[in-house]
Amino acid sequence: MRKNLFIVFIISIIIPIITFARIKNVIFLIGDGMGLNQIHASSIVADSALNMQRAHYIGLVDTHSADHYITDSAAGGTALACGVKTKNGMIGMNPDSVAIPSILRIAHTNKLSTGVVVTSSVTHATPASFLAHQVNRKMEEEIAVDILHSGVDVFIGGGRKFFSEREDKQNLIDSLHAKGYGVYSSIKEASISDSNKKGVLLADVGMPSKLEGRGNMLSEGTQLALDVLSKNKKGFFLLIEGSQIDWAGHANDIDGIIEETLDFDKAVGVAMDFADKNKETLVIVTADHETGGLQILGKDTDTKKLQTIFTSSYHSPVPVPLFAYGKDADKFSSYMENTTIKKILVELYRFKK
Ligand code: MG
Ligand code: ZN
Repeated sequence: MRKNLFIVFIISIIIPIITFARIKNVIFLIGDGMGLNQIHASSIVADSALNMQRAHYIGLVDTHSADHYITDSAAGGTALACGVKTKNGMIGMNPDSVAIPSILRIAHTNKLSTGVVVTSSVTHATPASFLAHQVNRKMEEEIAVDILHSGVDVFIGGGRKFFSEREDKQNLIDSLHAKGYGVYSSIKEASISDSNKKGVLLADVGMPSKLEGRGNMLSEGTQLALDVLSKNKKGFFLLIEGSQIDWAGHANDIDGIIEETLDFDKAVGVAMDFADKNKETLVIVTADHETGGLQILGKDTDTKKLQTIFTSSYHSPVPVPLFAYGKDADKFSSYMENTTIKKILVELYRFKK
């Protein structure tokens, strides 16, 4: 009897300790241009629920930038990464051009491991918002220099030419080697190397689209990054971006949107499976904005094809959904500004600001 009471006493102490412990790992997945209709259309065409629909908690995110009702991906990425509204086009800075540390950089400063896996160039606006500080997103050679100095442990995507064929003739691949990175041109090559710092540059500029045969680099890269980053006992921050949902949206290409969203959702599945095993992990799935003003009018009863129309070839101002899964996911079930997410993450990690 006394023994049972003792066990109850110990459990009553342990449960609050687990509940109130800080999160160790965050996997942050951005579907660029992925609004609710992109998600719904993909789920209907796939004829099954998406991985992101496994989330326990759902929020809505307002996306406007400091100077425009409709954000671009630089200001949208900066809001998510750095927690500040900035002007369209700016990367990792407030509107006065003051550099603001991103959640990835704060994680690095606190000795956590960090990584980025994208289907665009690693120097493109969304990943750059987490890794760089530049007044304009077009400064991709300057962004590559920032990546070199960012301390990021793993980066996977396109953009090799911004490192190796530069105006200033510097070869940043050599500089990456000097900093202890293994630099690879395939995920397979990177996964058999035991280097703990990996740069995987899979294309000169952007990656092919899913329909053009990109394959499964996003979900495979997510798994590789998790294998490397999860070795750090202190934890990690990992950014994943389905970059080309946006590009298909600009092209008003519904088939492209669906293929890119389903590809992104595979990476979401990898992240959620990791969180199922590692209970100190939080998974966030959201978007920087919607692209295309996509509307779904119905479904043809004979062909079962969706009837869709686009109301824009640019971004739209509608709020985007946020799916939260794993530890402390309940903190995100609200209507929030895009700048709020970083602030909540800093608190949940218990970082000193
Ligand atoms: Mg992007
Ligand atoms: Zn766009």
